[in-house]
Amino acid sequence: MPDDQKSLHSKVPSVDAILRLEPSIVLIERYGRALVTDAIRTVIADIRRQISELAEEALPLLEEASIIEQLNLFLDRATQPSLRAVYNLTGTVLHTNLGRAVLAEEAIEAMVKVAKGASNLEYEIGSGKRGDRDSHLDELLCKLTGAEAATVVNNNAAAVLLVLNTLGQRKEVPVSRGELIEIGGAFRIPDIMKRAGCKLVEIGTTNRTHLKDYAEAISGKTACLMKVHTSNYTVQGFTKEVTAQEMSALARDRNLPLIEDLGSGTLIDLSQFGLPHEPTAQEAVSSGVDVVTFSGDKLLGGPQAGLIVGRKDLIAKIKKNPMKRAMRLDKVTIAALTATLQLYLDPDSLAARIPTIRMLSRSVEDIQALAERVQNPLVAAVGDGFAVSIIDCQSQIGSGSLPVERLPSKALAIGTTKGKPGGKLQKLADAFRALPMPVIGRIQDDAYLLDLRCLEDIDGFTTQLGDLKL
Ligand SMILES: *Cc1c(COP(=O)(O)O)cnc(C)c1O
Repeated sequence: MPDDQKSLHSKVPSVDAILRLEPSIVLIERYGRALVTDAIRTVIADIRRQISELAEEALPLLEEASIIEQLNLFLDRATQPSLRAVYNLTGTVLHTNLGRAVLAEEAIEAMVKVAKGASNLEYEIGSGKRGDRDSHLDELLCKLTGAEAATVVNNNAAAVLLVLNTLGQRKEVPVSRGELIEIGGAFRIPDIMKRAGCKLVEIGTTNRTHLKDYAEAISGKTACLMKVHTSNYTVQGFTKEVTAQEMSALARDRNLPLIEDLGSGTLIDLSQFGLPHEPTAQEAVSSGVDVVTFSGDKLLGGPQAGLIVGRKDLIAKIKKNPMKRAMRLDKVTIAALTATLQLYLDPDSLAARIPTIRMLSRSVEDIQALAERVQNPLVAAVGDGFAVSIIDCQSQIGSGSLPVERLPSKALAIGTTKGKPGGKLQKLADAFRALPMPVIGRIQDDAYLLDLRCLEDIDGFTTQLGDLKL
């Protein structure tokens, strides 16, 4: 190493010297000695690297203010959780990658309460005896769906796996070719069947399946009949689907259970909110389905969970399956799900209290008014190079629910004022994602769009626009 480099390196303060600085003591109080020491080592290593590359030019890095700034940056990043809150302005209300349903205040309060201390998770307060964690939910689920019994697991994929494994292991399950769905994240009915230990018997064709196809597929090896709600696509044109009611009559006649995977199943008729009708769990139960499975965090608007409702004897069997133990819900989710389901006892309040329903049923006028409030702060934040306008757009429900339906909405569209946008829109999207609470929009045609259907914290959103770095 040349002499001048050596003398520069000798000016780098030691870890101990930096630890003794006044601002470091403040940092230690906040982050703890271990993390601050770690940060100092990293910052020193970085300064030494810069000296080797830049020699004298690296000298300003040795100043106390610069060192403290670097420490703050490091500690801020090191203590930032990986899982963070973001603004979902994609226009997809139930966005699987962005965490699906936003929980109701009532659900959040219930989670905090049970998280803070001990609870009667599996304990009967009246008798002082051991209890069942499903007991907090099953009555409520039965009341809301009209089923005889209920149980819950971690998600609907687990629910389907558990039901098939319980009822169909080493047996055959006929399913219509028109219902062999794949949903995102590699959930495919044929694969789940295999893992559940059942033999899938494909019947009918992609577009048409008749009741006689089911009747002909039934043999001594048949475990049950299964219907799958094709929640994320529609088959149109020359089609024939056998209803749950028709299948139920056949299943009864042959003494077989009928199961249905509803997927996005809801508990209310969504058409009352101007949304298209989606099959409800009550409808499945009353049309004679013996076991119904559906998700907690899709249209229901609760936490991630798989709900299983149906005939008492079958639910009892499902609960006894040892796999159930590996899929059971934790207390925090049970608290959130119970609180969410309780809201359904007062259907008139749903649009106000369940964020998913609130956002899905938000009127275009409401979204327009919101766009007008946000437009000016946005104009100021993006500066001269961009133009901001309010445009009509289409939101979608998401999570494979009602796939072809679109909800009229309003977006703030940010376009470039001069020439072709080129990479400028991508840079804009990057800048919005780099905000303290990242904003997720979408680029469509020649503009960056922020669909405001899911924006509720307006002040939080506009305040942080001052931090936008373009
Ligand atoms: C979404 C869906 C599933 C999977 O549910 P998760 O809660 O995501 O595990 C299964 N079947 C259908 C029909 C679905 O729509």
